[in-house]
Amino acid sequence: MDEDVDGPVAPDAGERIPPHRHTGRHARHAVVIGGGIAGLLAAQVLAAHADRVTIVERDRLPGEAKARSGVPQSGHIHVLLVGGQLALDTLLPGIVAELREHGAPEVGMPGDMVQWQSGIWYRRTPSTAHLLTASRPLLEWLVRRRVLTDTRIETVQGTEVVGLLGDAVRTTGVLLRERGAGARAARECVVTRALTADLVVDASGRGSRAPEWLAAVGAEPPAEETLDSGLAYASRVYRPGEDDGITDTIGYYVVPDPGQVCGGVALPMEDGRYLVTLSGVRGSEPPSDEAEFADFTARFPHPFLYEWLKRAEPDSPVRAFRNTANVRRRYDRPGRRPAGFLAIGDALCAFNPVYAQGMTVAAQNAVALREALADRRRTPTTRRVQQALLNSARQAWDISSGADREMPGVLGDAARTRAADRPVTWYLERVQRRAGGNPVVGAAFRAALHLSAPLSVLFAPRVVRAVLFEPVPHTPAEPPMWRESDGPVSDTW
Ligand SMILES: Cc1cc2nc3c(=O)[nH]c(=O)nc-3n(C[C@H](O)[C@H](O)[C@H](O)COP(=O)(O)OP(=O)(O)OC[C@H]3O[C@@H](n4cnc5c(N)ncnc54)[C@H](O)[C@@H]3O)c2cc1C
Repeated sequence: MDEDVDGPVAPDAGERIPPHRHTGRHARHAVVIGGGIAGLLAAQVLAAHADRVTIVERDRLPGEAKARSGVPQSGHIHVLLVGGQLALDTLLPGIVAELREHGAPEVGMPGDMVQWQSGIWYRRTPSTAHLLTASRPLLEWLVRRRVLTDTRIETVQGTEVVGLLGDAVRTTGVLLRERGAGARAARECVVTRALTADLVVDASGRGSRAPEWLAAVGAEPPAEETLDSGLAYASRVYRPGEDDGITDTIGYYVVPDPGQVCGGVALPMEDGRYLVTLSGVRGSEPPSDEAEFADFTARFPHPFLYEWLKRAEPDSPVRAFRNTANVRRRYDRPGRRPAGFLAIGDALCAFNPVYAQGMTVAAQNAVALREALADRRRTPTTRRVQQALLNSARQAWDISSGADREMPGVLGDAARTRAADRPVTWYLERVQRRAGGNPVVGAAFRAALHLSAPLSVLFAPRVVRAVLFEPVPHTPAEPPMWRESDGPVSDTW
């Protein structure tokens, strides 16, 4: 687990950020860099505190559920965990129902899935957590549509931020470069102009260049913690085979771990087609070649996905993605950094996508931003708000970095297992061996992984009893193709 770093408040970042609009005295302008999930949700929160919010987005944002080049990961599986559903609904009430109305499938865990994890096939007991498995373009479009109805929020599209205005003490805006309409013009610097703001929020994703921009104005870039398993993704859309209805299975999931370094997942999208994403760590990367795509699944513990793919019909090219390291930028730590600059979403903390946490954390970051700005007992200084944002990503970081540290060949300065973590690692291994067969342990494990309950749920008395004193439960020897008959659901611990 990570210790909380809570040094002295840096005087430069101690200045108040925009006050609540009901109490504020000044006209305030906030700029959000990036119109992805984190940027949209941050803008929605800031609109209640600033007079005006401008989202600067390098892409032109489509008026429909369509992939765009600024989010290259959108062609890969993007499930929304329970914690993300709750956070999104807190920010945009009714959005989850809207997603369902647009066809977003709900896939129950463990009931609806054939799941192989930690060396076992999970029993298909009644589900205690449901994934929403809409495509990323649909989810982002519905969020965008809702957020942009707020007249206080405007967008500057086809324009990228290339630097910060101000100095190491205060950020006063951003420097913009418009992208031309043609391909040639897009590569060239067409126009550069300044946009002033009282607050700048970096939501430009895992490729954020804010550390360089900060250095360019004389500020200290944040320390970066990285942990890279070298995991690569390859994804392809399929139409399921006609004889697929012979089982009640909705999703297929092989989770990579130190003993099974390649994995795969097949889940339905809103249009009935399936998105199949294969993954493998450094040295076991999935092929981006169409002819070899399905063969990769022969390396799984059972050929069930291979057989499923043989019956299904490919409906897209194979898309590959490699930049999957866990990266945490420690803006919360003391340093000579300006007031009025915050980072959120992947720009603050990006995760190995195999744990499906990123969008959930972006939404939980936005909830934390809302709470920090609304807290009348504490002045929302830049550094205090940044700490709240980082705290809201801490559980996800502990999960993904904790699991990745065990992967072979992992690189990065956060790769070392500390002696203090060993008892927790020992306990979590026992949890994992029981999560697939013991419904009480399984429900607690899923709640923690879905970021809908704190990690302490794994130490609830019923869970501890099962983990420490009960034998490893029976699990199926083969992939279970049917749900277990509906018994009592145990989602309490
Ligand atoms: C392969 C893969 C699979 C994933 N699967 C899942 C999953 O199953 N579930 C899940 O919850 N998460 C998943 N994630 C993580 C998820 O994609 C991110 O966590 C989430 O998109 C974070 O949102 P964001 O807004 O911070 O960044 P992004 O979605 O990356 O958005 C950044 C935005 O900023 C814009 N931008 C960038 N630079 C500039 C600039 N200089 N000026 C203006 N605009 C700029 C970009 O065009 C983009 O619109 C996955 C990630 C990957 C890589």
